[in-house]
Amino acid sequence: MVERRDDLEMATLLAMTYGTDAGSVTPPIYQTSLFTFDSFEAFEDRMAGRTDQAIYTRVQNPTVAAFETMVADAEAGEAAVGFASGMAAIASTLFAFLKPGDKIACIEHVYPDTYRLFERLLRPFGVEISYHPPIAFEDDPELLDGIALAYLESPSSVVFEVMDLAKVAGHARHHGALTVIDNSWASPIFQRPLSSGIDIVLHSASKYIGGHSDTVAGVVVSSAAHIERLRDLTLPLLGGKLAPFEAFLLARGMRTLSARMRQHQATANLFVDRLAARSDVKAVYSPGVNSVPGLKGRSGLMSVEFNDDIDIPRLANALRLFKLGVSWGGFESLILPAQVALAQVGEENSLQRFGVSPKLVRLSLGLEDSNDLWEDFSTALEHAGKPAGARLGAS
Ligand SMILES: *Cc1c(COP(=O)(O)O)cnc(C)c1O
Repeated sequence: MVERRDDLEMATLLAMTYGTDAGSVTPPIYQTSLFTFDSFEAFEDRMAGRTDQAIYTRVQNPTVAAFETMVADAEAGEAAVGFASGMAAIASTLFAFLKPGDKIACIEHVYPDTYRLFERLLRPFGVEISYHPPIAFEDDPELLDGIALAYLESPSSVVFEVMDLAKVAGHARHHGALTVIDNSWASPIFQRPLSSGIDIVLHSASKYIGGHSDTVAGVVVSSAAHIERLRDLTLPLLGGKLAPFEAFLLARGMRTLSARMRQHQATANLFVDRLAARSDVKAVYSPGVNSVPGLKGRSGLMSVEFNDDIDIPRLANALRLFKLGVSWGGFESLILPAQVALAQVGEENSLQRFGVSPKLVRLSLGLEDSNDLWEDFSTALEHAGKPAGARLGAS
């Protein structure tokens, strides 16, 4: 187990986390489903809860525990629990704390699959859900009256709206509402919501925490008591456990998280400056440092809304370094046009419901050289603009 060393920078802390067996700097991969006992007495002690040796990997595994400790430290939480995906982390958290008849207040522009979880599983299960802009959470102290759980993202998905988490946590505490935030965008490097009074932080570790587009995973961080509830109920009974090998990959991701976030931020700052100066750009959605209390950096995930001069399919097809795809947070830069995302789900499409423009694209700025990326993007914009369109049309 790790001693907390509050005097150290995050990058240093994460690199030092392992003084493990045999001098290994990374956690060994315990690729086993079960753990056996040396004696009847040792087995009986464990089953009675007097010792804490792992029993079965659905519930507990030392490689997974090493990753969980790293994330708990990074988020300044007491404990963490890993899951098979971000969605398993979200669903396992909600089902552990909600019962039929409860009400959720949710941020609008929530991650689309979280929206579908609310509408297709939780609503039929008897939970009421309402959606609100960040400003309502901040400025209407009565919004959370009678609410069991406030489900937050700050920045939100798609348009990256931010909220003052300490203020919202204060309102929630007053009304006895549990606060849950998806902190995947900022990562613990740029925002630690528990320090602002939020109760539960969760991540899609498939994004920045993993950082290499090679793992799907999730993690939840909170007080020891809340995490114990997840370990007691939804981790074992829904069974969405994190695999040991994936925990190993994520522990590797944690060690470079701080350095990667700095590089994502450098490229994002360059893109925001240059996009904002263009006449064919209507809006750039990308909260920067200190745009809200507690937000210490700008990650590489942003959206850009163009005016009618830009042909989005032509832009997407003219890019060389940016790939077309969902997900984000890995090495490679990605573009996701809203009109493609809009085509995806039909009646439960949250993008449609929340009025997202078809001229919007989401960019995940990766770890390629910042100037190469801008060169690629600005060249593609030349091909996607009206005058270039006329030239292409003539050929
Ligand atoms: C990807 C994502 C999720 C879902 O995570 P998975 O690991 O894909 O299950 C949840 N929230 C946000 C903000 C995401 O981007």
